[in-house]
Amino acid sequence: MTIRVWDYLPEYEEEQADILDAVRTVFESGQLILGESVRGFEREFAAYHGVDHCVGVDNGTNAVKLGLRALGIGPGDEVITVSNTAAPTVVAIDDVGAVPVFVDVREDDYLMDTDQVAAAVTPRTKALLPVHLYGQCVDMAPLRQIADRHGLVILEDCAQAHGARRNGRLAGTMGDAAAFSFYPTKVLGAYGDGGAVVTSDADVDRNLRRLRYYGMEDVYYVVATPGYNSRLDEVQAEILRRKLGRLDKYTAQRRAVAERYFDGLGDLAEAGDLVLPATTEGNEHVYYVFVVRHPRRDEIIERLRHHGISLNISYPWPVHTMTGFQHLGYARGALPTTERLADEIFSLPMYPSLPRERQDRVIDTLREVLATL
Ligand SMILES: *Cc1c(COP(=O)(O)O)cnc(C)c1O
Repeated sequence: MTIRVWDYLPEYEEEQADILDAVRTVFESGQLILGESVRGFEREFAAYHGVDHCVGVDNGTNAVKLGLRALGIGPGDEVITVSNTAAPTVVAIDDVGAVPVFVDVREDDYLMDTDQVAAAVTPRTKALLPVHLYGQCVDMAPLRQIADRHGLVILEDCAQAHGARRNGRLAGTMGDAAAFSFYPTKVLGAYGDGGAVVTSDADVDRNLRRLRYYGMEDVYYVVATPGYNSRLDEVQAEILRRKLGRLDKYTAQRRAVAERYFDGLGDLAEAGDLVLPATTEGNEHVYYVFVVRHPRRDEIIERLRHHGISLNISYPWPVHTMTGFQHLGYARGALPTTERLADEIFSLPMYPSLPRERQDRVIDTLREVLATL
């Protein structure tokens, strides 16, 4: 049997009764769009974060897109972000007509290098879009200072960081608004697509509700500014409500899986044979993915594949090197750390219900492969 880098079936087996009950609850409710399940999830997700508002949307990409628009970002505005991210972060910036401006990432935790942000600000800069990548939060204090100095807004991309904290503060509570994805693999995952934007700004909340609903005020059926159809699905919202109650348990399970990797591979890291994830002071990692690093990454992946273990790379191509973003004008070499990482990182299997014996096989096989490279 192949061991996959991510698998929802072990979890579904455990939670099947609850998940199917969620589906039945919605089907029997008499309201299939923007009903009690979406409202309930929005209330509970906002409460989890201690923020005033949550607006459920159809996916994480549109959470970033609507978040940007709701904050007033549009054509020609520059948005500072990273190239070491999931492409949708940048697709969303492009989609509102704004211009992504990339800074490099740090060598230790692979997150936005906040020391490079001030130099990237121009008169056209309107927003900072830090990505809390892999399950860890970007250092937000320096970003807030830069934003205040230049009158910028901050949208956090929290698609990989549900429940992560930095200096005690939850991802999603440190910017002006924050975008979440509930794509099935994510730390809080639906059984299909889903997303949300959280904010404590009442105007941003109103903008978001309009934007996800064609641009209409819910009551007046009149479009002021054309928007989209970007609603969170009622069935997914009900499933997410149930799973939100288990989010802290999932995170504890992810951390236990990570601990076992540290125990099983720690000596290799000490010997310099493999780089394991680093956590900087104050960060509480939720391990959306468990990213390791080795210069002969491709050979390792290939050999593990022969042993029935399929690994993943997040991400093999930095966004600025992709064909679709050549118009931004970044040459190879422009973001050296990002580019080097893309050649060396890979992700080990990670999900809350990862069976112990599968993980042991991954550790043993990886050790064997590294010893015989
Ligand atoms: C998954 C992801 C997204 C996009 O979310 P979808 O729900 O797949 O649209 C955006 N940003 C980051 C960092 C992601 O990991």
